Amino acid sequence: MVGDLRLRIDRTLCVGFGDCVTEAPLAFALDEDGVAIFTDPGAAGRAQLLHACDSCPVDAITVWDAEGHQLVP
Ligand code: SF4
Repeated sequence: MVGDLRLRIDRTLCVGFGDCVTEAPLAFALDEDGVAIFTDPGAAGRAQLLHACDSCPVDAITVWDAEGHQLVP
């Protein structure tokens, strides 16, 4: 949870392109296997975080709001 957002990375889908890291380098990183992990998603602004999640080319990142509405992808 980050504020009112619930985020999930499907690490089985992530192919490690790093778009999310590029868009929000404080929020995401690639681990030793080259798969995305959360670092400090609260450090990114809400809009930046949503944009970064939406940048994933394989839709590995899903975001829901507090009411359970899916915002990304
Ligand atoms: S943008 Fe998607 S595929 Fe690329 S590193 Fe992030 S989660 Fe993985």
